Amino acid sequence: MKINNVETYLLDIPLKQKAITDSQTKLDSVEFVVVRIDTEEGISGWGFNWNYTKGTRAVQAIIDDNYAALLMNKDPLMHKKLLNELHYTNHFIGQVGVTRVGLCAVNLALWDIRLKVSNMPLWKYLGPVKNKVKAYNTDGGWLGASTDELIEDMNKLIDRGFDAVKMKLGRPDPREDYERVKAVRDAIPSNVKLMTDVNTVWDLKTAKVWGRRLEEFDIYWLEEPMNPFNKRDHAILARDLDIPVAAGETIYTKYDFRDYIESGAVDIVQADATKLSGIDEWLDVAALARCYDLEVIPHTNVQQKLHVQLAAASPNVPMVENCYESLSTIWEEPIEVIDGYYTLPEEPGLGCKLNDSILEECRIG
Ligand SMILES: [Mg+2]
Repeated sequence: MKINNVETYLLDIPLKQKAITDSQTKLDSVEFVVVRIDTEEGISGWGFNWNYTKGTRAVQAIIDDNYAALLMNKDPLMHKKLLNELHYTNHFIGQVGVTRVGLCAVNLALWDIRLKVSNMPLWKYLGPVKNKVKAYNTDGGWLGASTDELIEDMNKLIDRGFDAVKMKLGRPDPREDYERVKAVRDAIPSNVKLMTDVNTVWDLKTAKVWGRRLEEFDIYWLEEPMNPFNKRDHAILARDLDIPVAAGETIYTKYDFRDYIESGAVDIVQADATKLSGIDEWLDVAALARCYDLEVIPHTNVQQKLHVQLAAASPNVPMVENCYESLSTIWEEPIEVIDGYYTLPEEPGLGCKLNDSILEECRIG
């Protein structure tokens, strides 16, 4: 096969749901960079990446200005060799950050071509260990919601069949977080798993004191309590607390995951294929975690069918996050959650193509 065209789209997609708020962010739209890789044989692969803030134009630039020319006339089925070559061209502009976010979009497009040639969806190509994937939901737990709204939204999700829900922490006074968790725990059934997410704003002392106090509420995990670059503090905290410490959505390489895992700094590995360099590196991290008997529970399903399919093919992935549900409508073949479980796609390919109307109406570059 031979690549004969690389096309990119920069999109700004408005969110059509209640404001999304955590300790770092308030969102009303999400940026996407989409890459389409065409071949002489007529098969096209679609890849993407996404971002909470502005600035994704830099990712589009690295694909257009560097990766596109290097991909031309190459065999897309040699995808690991190709991606290695692209990675090493980033020597002097950085091998993480926007270069890697772009590399992931290319990785997904090359996988889409491979899967279409193989006539299989990703999970069947990799070899499934299950044929449905459990979902947990975060859309009922935003930081800006009042305690009454939290309880109402959580119970609506539970009525829909979710038995695991997450709420955001990180209000300026941790006493407020404590009271909100207490109120939610009291208001939802005791068999429903309740997870918490600080989005990195606590220091070690705050995380020790308030993490310890939250233990009385049977919390399933404490997510991103502190600055993710400080592995040492995570190792101290994870040893100190009985609540499992979760991290991964801002860990960008398998080497960083190795250091977290080896030092006992993480109990729940939240590897995100779109923050790593794509499917191959995610599989490396999942295999590493398995050697330590750790669960991998990927970050978000903004990526729709990506993590759900990886979960179906990985023995140590018990569930995948479900949130930003209004974004489901942007995909050509959106994924469904029925009674708390994702259904898996049967169509060949990665299944991550956005609607033509979104590609047109939301395009800003
Ligand atoms: Mg999080």
